[in-house]
Amino acid sequence: MLKGIAASSGITIAKAYKLETPEVKIEKKTGCDPAAEFARFKNALKKCKEDIQKIKDAAVGRLSDEELAIFDAHLMVAEDPAMESEVQNMCENEKVNCDYALDTVANNYISMFESLDDEYMRERAADIRDVTRRIKYHILGIDIADLSLINEESIVVAHDLTPSDTAQLNKQYTKGFATEVGGRTSHSAIMARSLEIPAVVGIEHVMSEVKHGDLLILDAIKGELLINPDQATVAEYQKKADAYREEVEALKVLKDAKSCTTDGHEVLLVANIGTPNDVDGVIANGGEGVGLYRTEFLYMNAQALPTEEEQFEAYKKVLEAMNPKPVVVRTLDIGGDKKLPYLPIDPEMNPFLGYRAIRLCLDRKDIFRTQLRALIRASAFGKLEIMFPMIATLGEFREARKVFEEEKAKLIAEGVKVGDDIEVGMMVEIPAAAVLADQFAKEADFFSIGTNDLIQYSMAADRMSEKVAYLYQPFNPSILKLIKMTIDGAHKEGKWCGMCGEMAGEPDAISVLMGLGLDEFSMSATSILRARKVANSVCYEDMKKLADKALQCCTAEEVLDLIHETVK
Ligand code: PEP
Ligand code: MG
Repeated sequence: MLKGIAASSGITIAKAYKLETPEVKIEKKTGCDPAAEFARFKNALKKCKEDIQKIKDAAVGRLSDEELAIFDAHLMVAEDPAMESEVQNMCENEKVNCDYALDTVANNYISMFESLDDEYMRERAADIRDVTRRIKYHILGIDIADLSLINEESIVVAHDLTPSDTAQLNKQYTKGFATEVGGRTSHSAIMARSLEIPAVVGIEHVMSEVKHGDLLILDAIKGELLINPDQATVAEYQKKADAYREEVEALKVLKDAKSCTTDGHEVLLVANIGTPNDVDGVIANGGEGVGLYRTEFLYMNAQALPTEEEQFEAYKKVLEAMNPKPVVVRTLDIGGDKKLPYLPIDPEMNPFLGYRAIRLCLDRKDIFRTQLRALIRASAFGKLEIMFPMIATLGEFREARKVFEEEKAKLIAEGVKVGDDIEVGMMVEIPAAAVLADQFAKEADFFSIGTNDLIQYSMAADRMSEKVAYLYQPFNPSILKLIKMTIDGAHKEGKWCGMCGEMAGEPDAISVLMGLGLDEFSMSATSILRARKVANSVCYEDMKKLADKALQCCTAEEVLDLIHETVK
């Protein structure tokens, strides 16, 4: 049994599907038969094209047109006549093996494209690398794993899954995933929760311990992976999985209930979403709104910066579907572990502390203004609230708000209908902002605490690192104090304070956060009903006392013990 971090709840039993991209060593052979070598190459090329077409066909309906365009770019590389004739010439003139010829030809193209200034052209180098690797695998008879081609129930085992890998997982067959890297708040973990796929991340050695086809039990409640268990264990976990499913089913009676304590204190339980399609899950799980729409996925799943019109359509879809419930949209939070292939950012030693989020948007106002215009136009279709990520100083907030006001005034002057009460708030995810919350609250309309980052910055512990995961302590009294400062700062100025970090959806955290006075809890849609059950079962006055005591504790363990003693 291997241990990791439970990232998306559930229990699942299925065969392992290993996602491997083995490095191939190409050796030069001479004296080969040119005709036979070229035939071998053509055969592999044909298989490669068939693969790409199959992957594309399997993705139609699940991916947007822009995402599908990746496969067209790959087909173009595979169908390039120049590359084919260069391989043929090399086989004929030098009598070398075709994999060596292909490797040489492809490497020439890759270095040429990589040396160009144009980012789009540099991206083509990645396409060539991808496609030629596939052809080489076919020449050498190496099995190729492809997530979108999975056609039987599987647990995907990988070193890592990028957010776009996760987006390509077919929910029908992907019953879970287990990765070597990542933490609870890595973006693949967040995606797994929004797709409702059980996931355990940060499992050391999972790639060397698990073989393709092994029977696996993934316990994503405890964070465990069992390899080739015996029959009795399988039966035991089958029961656990059934019980978990029944529990989830039973929670559905709370779908339309209020999120209200036994003594009448109401809070708002809302959802985090990544794409407009996630809205269905929010409604199905009784979400009272959207507390965080991470707009960066709109940018990450595209080949170029999304236009104002494309963004407008996406935002409008969410606002209309949720209307009249509130939708908090976060402006672009790119950087850190979220990169855009078409927007190069100079390498940095510490990308999480670098050029990202609002810092990038204030530097690239063209990108920022386009997004704000799309948002302001969409505000006519629902209850829009906008927030800026990674605000560290009042100066940044003022500058961002000024750009918003300018674009709003321009649109009004152009005769565009805009919502008349768009709130403009900020995320509190940098300790400096939490400490100065009372000042920020004079100017921001609301706060949303981003604990995923607030904890990593306060504890100086990378949220992606499994090695320092022990320091990632939501219940550390220092974090509770920062949260209290933020909430009190907001309330002093009559503003509301929410939380959209993963902590907001943790059943153990809800009681203490409620006691601290948090007004809005934003979480994965699938966590809402369980959170409502907690909210409905506690007494607000008691939670206030619990929170006071928690603030006096010295360690996270003490806080957790206190919560477990108080909230049964
Ligand atoms: C956070 O930092 O808590 C947050 C919600 O933002 P993200 O996870 O997207 O960084
Ligand atoms: Mg963040």
